[in-house]
Amino acid sequence: MKLLISVLFALLCNVAVAGQADTEISNCLKAEGPLLQVLGSGGPIADDGRASSGYLVWVDGRSRFLVDAGGGIFLRFGEAGARFEDLEHISISHFHTDHSTDLVALLKSGYFSNRSSALPISGPMAGGDYPGTGDFLKRLLDQDNGAYAYLEGYLDGSDGLVELIPTEVDPGLTKATRVYTDPGTNIEILALGVPHGPVPALAYRIRIGQQSIVFSGDQNGNSDAFIDFARGTDVLVMHMPVPENTGEVARKLHAPPSVIGKIAAETGTGSLVLSHFMSRSLANMEENLDQIRSRYDGPLINAYDLDCVGF
Ligand SMILES: [Zn+2]
Repeated sequence: MKLLISVLFALLCNVAVAGQADTEISNCLKAEGPLLQVLGSGGPIADDGRASSGYLVWVDGRSRFLVDAGGGIFLRFGEAGARFEDLEHISISHFHTDHSTDLVALLKSGYFSNRSSALPISGPMAGGDYPGTGDFLKRLLDQDNGAYAYLEGYLDGSDGLVELIPTEVDPGLTKATRVYTDPGTNIEILALGVPHGPVPALAYRIRIGQQSIVFSGDQNGNSDAFIDFARGTDVLVMHMPVPENTGEVARKLHAPPSVIGKIAAETGTGSLVLSHFMSRSLANMEENLDQIRSRYDGPLINAYDLDCVGF
């Protein structure tokens, strides 16, 4: 009961469960070491008072890695004090709107930055109704057919814009793909396909020296390969848009809380950050947390936009 009260207190007050991982509602600008900043903790419906999915990983006061760019993260990016010129890699988990629509807004913002170096961006290969990452950018930016052809310089580095360098990952691979590496600072980003219904989707693991953070992306949790991929991470960010009593269709797309708890326990993560909430999961938080807590007893944080989490 005491634990449940502390979890609910954390939920209400938007802070970490007492004595566990550090989080504060502030920007991560002044801190040293790697930090997670939640840009968007909400879902695809504009009724939860949150931006859609998006995260920054700060390293020594620089906003170096962006994971997802859902609606609303454009605003949060600025509020966080992040700088486009400090981004070293953008990782897109999949091309649902709530993970990708603010990318082009951020690119336009970047036009006004001092950035001069190319910007690598990774995402899934094409599948079903969804374009691959390179095609996604072309459909936005291509001079002939792009909706935002006026930004087409991002495709080849012309017009004073920096070139976007896309890397597409096959979500059908059971082995992780390295999409970024910086031997100088001992940082790498790995991607792995995760099951999200018919949608090509990726999880990401960012390793910074001896520390790492894993972003589950949207997934139903039925992947043994993901458990191996996330094993031993310091922080595991899992998406919880649906409650336990959700229907069969939603379970093909998203992991219910019991599965999230099982995954957190099996990976042995240092802490679990719950995010990508929807009103339907927020309405059942007490029961959701019970489901997780009966399987996982480590540090747990309920994310809110602009939370800054150390690891
Ligand atoms: Zn999705």
